Amino acid sequence: MKNNSFTVKQEILKELGGLYPEARTELEYGSTFQLLVAVMLSAQCTDRQVNRITSGLFQKYVKPEDFAHLEWEDLAGEIKGCGLYRNKSRNIIKTSRILEEKYHSRVPGDREALESLPGVGRKTANVVLNIAFGRPVMPVDTHVFRISRRLGLSAGKTPAAVEKDLQAIVPPEWMGKIHHCLILHGRHICRARSPLCGKCTLSVLCLKNRMAVVGEQ
Ligand code: SF4
Repeated sequence: MKNNSFTVKQEILKELGGLYPEARTELEYGSTFQLLVAVMLSAQCTDRQVNRITSGLFQKYVKPEDFAHLEWEDLAGEIKGCGLYRNKSRNIIKTSRILEEKYHSRVPGDREALESLPGVGRKTANVVLNIAFGRPVMPVDTHVFRISRRLGLSAGKTPAAVEKDLQAIVPPEWMGKIHHCLILHGRHICRARSPLCGKCTLSVLCLKNRMAVVGEQ
């Protein structure tokens, strides 16, 4: 038998899904490789800024082989508008070379291969697996981490712990959608510094209000 906490979490997931029916990634890309590059660029940078950069970048360079033969300084100049651009430039070029040499210029669809690419960590691999390959994995970024904890979907203290908790409660077919719903809720309502709790339709189900009710009893 499912316990009450599990039922509340399922309610929250249902509400989130209804709140953002069109939730999808805001990154713009034309191929799995371009998605990978865009996600690599998005570390410590907004999706809007990444789109600004890639709208010109992907006109000039399309495939791994186009990036593989660039000098890192040249690519760094193109992506200067996002943080950590020197490292990102080196990693994108190294990753492109590996894709060209080892994977026939295709992005591999398994975690181990993805995470072996320079600059590709678990979160980036999960985003690519989730969006491009439709795998039921949960990428945990700063929004997903914060909102999951505030709503009481997880009490995990690390992204890995939150990922594990979400994997246990989100039905596989909802994984991609809920990931984007959590991000949108974090961007627009449950903001890091001043969450708009008064406007939040999830407030009754939110952990802090559930705690308040328990405290009053
Ligand atoms: S009630 Fe407040 S803290 Fe809870 S999810 Fe909504 S905005 Fe975030």
